[in-house]
Amino acid sequence: MSFRASVLTLYPEMFPGALGLSLAGRGLEAGAWSLDTVQIRDFATDRHRSVDDTPSGGGAGMVMRADVLARAIDHASPEGDPRPRLLMSPRGKPLAQARVRELAAGPGAVIVCGRFEGVDERVIAARDLEEISIGDFILSGGEAAALVLLDAVVRLLPGVMGNVRSGEEESFENGLLEHPHYTRPQEFEGMDIPPVLISGDHARIAAWRKAESERLTAERRPDLLKP
Ligand code: SAH
Repeated sequence: MSFRASVLTLYPEMFPGALGLSLAGRGLEAGAWSLDTVQIRDFATDRHRSVDDTPSGGGAGMVMRADVLARAIDHASPEGDPRPRLLMSPRGKPLAQARVRELAAGPGAVIVCGRFEGVDERVIAARDLEEISIGDFILSGGEAAALVLLDAVVRLLPGVMGNVRSGEEESFENGLLEHPHYTRPQEFEGMDIPPVLISGDHARIAAWRKAESERLTAERRPDLLKP
């Protein structure tokens, strides 16, 4: 059974979007993963098919209704579905490579995309949604965040990434940022490729890369080095 994603959204046309192209797109076609979308609005019951209402207690914007969203979730993920239920949310735990790996090793994910001011708190509790953030900034909706999460997960699935080894040497995989890369031409605008990289000495190359990794991490992301 390959990784199965179900995305709940008011904009199903946004999927697979960028994930229909390149490695993810080829993987989708080949069945390395699958994607279905659920239009949340299909689960509205009133005449206007409304999915949102004004915030209790007042204030700006609108809030997605718990009842409509719960019906959509129950449809996409009936009892017994082993997949985790995620809610893209700026209040969530920041997404990191460790969670991406866990998700990629599992059966798939049910992903709820918020819109407006967000969703009624009660549906988060009642359907046990895991809130995940992709960074400390506000998007207009959860769809772009869901695409980011799925992109990160799908590239790890068996049969998606051509060169299997490159996934293991990436930034964050060993708690460090990656070393710099170079390729031909040998000279570019007066700058040469560091001589060690064309020395053919694999031990020295590995040592140089490790040192560069540590230098860049200390300089740019000292938080990653803290125990
Ligand atoms: N009023 C909310 C922001 C709502 S933005 C607040 O201040 O916290 C509308 C929707 O976009 C959210 O419900 C969520 O699904 C999505 N979203 C916005 N920023 C996000 C982020 N950084 N990570 C993940 N999802 C995000």
